[in-house]
Amino acid sequence: MSFLSLNSLSKSFGGLKAVDNFSLELAEGSLNALVGPNGCGKSTLFNLITGSLTPDNGSVVFKGDNITGLSPHQIARLGVGRKFQVPAIFEELSVFENLIIAARKNRQSISLPALLNQIKLWREQNQLAGELAHGQKQWLEIGILLAQGPSLILLDEPTAGMTASETRETANLISMINRDQKITVLVIEHDIAFIEYLDCPLHVMSKGQILKSGSFSEIRNDDEVKELYFGRSQETPLMGSDIHA
Ligand code: ADP
Ligand code: MG
Repeated sequence: MSFLSLNSLSKSFGGLKAVDNFSLELAEGSLNALVGPNGCGKSTLFNLITGSLTPDNGSVVFKGDNITGLSPHQIARLGVGRKFQVPAIFEELSVFENLIIAARKNRQSISLPALLNQIKLWREQNQLAGELAHGQKQWLEIGILLAQGPSLILLDEPTAGMTASETRETANLISMINRDQKITVLVIEHDIAFIEYLDCPLHVMSKGQILKSGSFSEIRNDDEVKELYFGRSQETPLMGSDIHA
């Protein structure tokens, strides 16, 4: 049994098929990345998984239960955590308070000191969240997710706007969460350095569907993927630059 099964999901907005008959299976404990040009349907797919949107067709099965049509609140309670592109944190509260509030939603007890260390905000724990640096806010939001005890986390462009070193630290953090805490992770990302560093199976999305799945090196050299990003196949995509369409 798959941990998460996305079965023929479709979602249209007016005449636009944002997600088109999309299927993907995630194994428990796996780490997968989803990439694709702006507007290809990545965030919409996340909205279908988390219940923010209801699919026109298809189903989402999580740990054997059909969760299609449940509310975002119900799906979150089942253990699905989602990080948005803009961090959802309480700016006027301290880092510690943000984590305490999140931990209340968790039926299991967690160690906040360990969590603060893990997200590299130990020294900042009493600072207002609104005063953190951009990268630190992203880590706090990941900490808020972890405090709630999810078994699956969905990350939507977690390194957007980060420096190269913050990006690398974020890749380390995500690898650690997956490897040590056995949390299944699906991450949407544009930053190629990050994706290469994560070294995980990659799914390239185009026009609401999966165009190709494979390892980073398989995808990087794929002619169809080159065509998707550059409209021609001579150049090497997914190397040294980002892949915004
Ligand atoms: P991505 O995250 O890959 O950049 P999105 O999933 O955000 O892409 O968007 C896919 C397509 O669906 C885009 O053309 C976008 O404009 C459209 N879209 C997304 N959400 C909505 C919405 N709520 N209403 C109408 N169109 C939408
Ligand atoms: Mg998006």
